[in-house]
Amino acid sequence: MKLIFLGPPGAGKGTIADLAVGALGLPHISTGDLFRAAVKNGTSLGLKVKDIMASGGLVPDELTIELVRERLGQADAAGGWILDGFPRTIPQAEALGKIAGVDKVVNFDVADEIVVGRLSGRRVCRSCGKIYHVANMPPKKEGACDIDGGELYTRDDDKEAAIKVRLDTYRAQTAPLIDWYGKKGSLMTIDGVGDPKAVLGRFMAAIGR
Ligand code: ADP
Ligand code: ADP
Repeated sequence: MKLIFLGPPGAGKGTIADLAVGALGLPHISTGDLFRAAVKNGTSLGLKVKDIMASGGLVPDELTIELVRERLGQADAAGGWILDGFPRTIPQAEALGKIAGVDKVVNFDVADEIVVGRLSGRRVCRSCGKIYHVANMPPKKEGACDIDGGELYTRDDDKEAAIKVRLDTYRAQTAPLIDWYGKKGSLMTIDGVGDPKAVLGRFMAAIGR
């Protein structure tokens, strides 16, 4: 099964993908995670994207499409995937159409006020990437990951100025994909508000699992 997770930043795409991977046996491929790993490792790609990401803007399509082409060519992606955070522009969606077929596009519907609260309270484990929220999904011990004790940090782009840029960018460049995939007949919109387990249940029902 080849799935795309669509929705504004903070919609819960990464959280639901992490909850679903075990049950579905699919790799969770997040372009944001791939870019953050490149920045952390100081690769030439990382150096190119660091400032763009911190500002809340989008990485140029050519770099992003190449990254995805390479990742989808790896062995673990042969049987399907959950693609989280890609495509984010119409040219990216057109390029993906030439790389691979897509079975379902799952659009997580969450209102702006809720998304802002989710992003400003998001914390991420520096070592394993597990996602928390200070109020909604707190770790057992403040500031430390439940899984490996890693330090929880606030992403640069989860600060107020970048959040605004990201929401504007989402509206201008990514939201048009809802209609684009709607016309192709592969779109499903699910309510992304409520307990993550409830959202997961809605998602599984929508894909017939
Ligand atoms: P969020 O979880 O808030 O939706 P991501 O982790 O998916 O954010 O992405 C973080 C940043 O990485 C984006 O703001 C952007 O700078 C870059 N990025 C991720 N995916 C893409 C993409 N498909 N196209 C361009 N830039 C991207
Ligand atoms: P995205 O990948 O779409 O940017 P995340 O999965 O990183 O979104 O979630 C954004 C923030 O919202 C995180 O802090 C996460 O813990 C929190 N969150 C995710 N899903 C829910 C939910 N259903 N209810 C409340 N908070 C949530």
